[in-house]
Amino acid sequence: MTPEGLALLRRGAEELQLDVTPHEAQFARLLALLRSGNERLNLTALKTEEDIVLKHFVDSLTTLRGGHLDGAYRTLDLGTGAGFPALPLAIVRPELDLVPLDSIRKKIDFVRDTAAELGLSHVTPQVGRAETLGQSAEHREQYDRVVARAVAALPVLAELALPLLRVGGVFVAQKGPLSDEELDAGRRAAGEVGGRVIEVDPFTLPVSGDARTLIVLEKQRPTPARYPRREGVPTHQPLF
Ligand code: SAM
Repeated sequence: MTPEGLALLRRGAEELQLDVTPHEAQFARLLALLRSGNERLNLTALKTEEDIVLKHFVDSLTTLRGGHLDGAYRTLDLGTGAGFPALPLAIVRPELDLVPLDSIRKKIDFVRDTAAELGLSHVTPQVGRAETLGQSAEHREQYDRVVARAVAALPVLAELALPLLRVGGVFVAQKGPLSDEELDAGRRAAGEVGGRVIEVDPFTLPVSGDARTLIVLEKQRPTPARYPRREGVPTHQPLF
């Protein structure tokens, strides 16, 4: 990573009161692996160092706002893609037991190889769809935390994420600007699947000033057995 890239990472982390100094070598390696993986696999649209550091690394770390991931939590990253926010979180939070999930095998193969290269043994990537995992005994209600960045509208996310959480567990959804309509639909969907929106945190990304919103849902009672509905239905026929 260039000195400029490193400065950007430090500046973004500082705004989160996070000291990345002990982790800089791992972030530099992640940058290199992402760039070479991208040439082969076309994993992400972001290609410049500045974009990757700011819009993947720093942006992923903003899920730490509010302190909902400060603990030894079993955490699923729903729709992780090339490993975001899972890999940056795994670097700075070794106590998390992280399961990056994506339905696309080549992405999960990349995340698995990258986690191994970075020595992140607490990361166990999984290929599959959230609809399927949410109805399997192995995964349903087995997680303390679910995170998701840029995956779907809030009502869809609520139906996919809440079944995976134990009662008392927390879902941190990371989005761009959030409309009142989407928030309202998300609140209603959360109620339907056993949860409640407990926090809405709008903020801007350092340097670029891009608008972001963290929406935090808490699971308050078991999700009715009919949710999540079968593959594709939550997206094509959202609850609200
Ligand atoms: N979270 C990553 C990021 O922010 O860079 C990737 C975002 S990408 C726009 C959305 C990802 O979610 C895709 O890789 C897609 O395959 C995955 N995805 C969408 N719906 C899913 C589902 N129901 N189950 C598992 N993965 C899903």
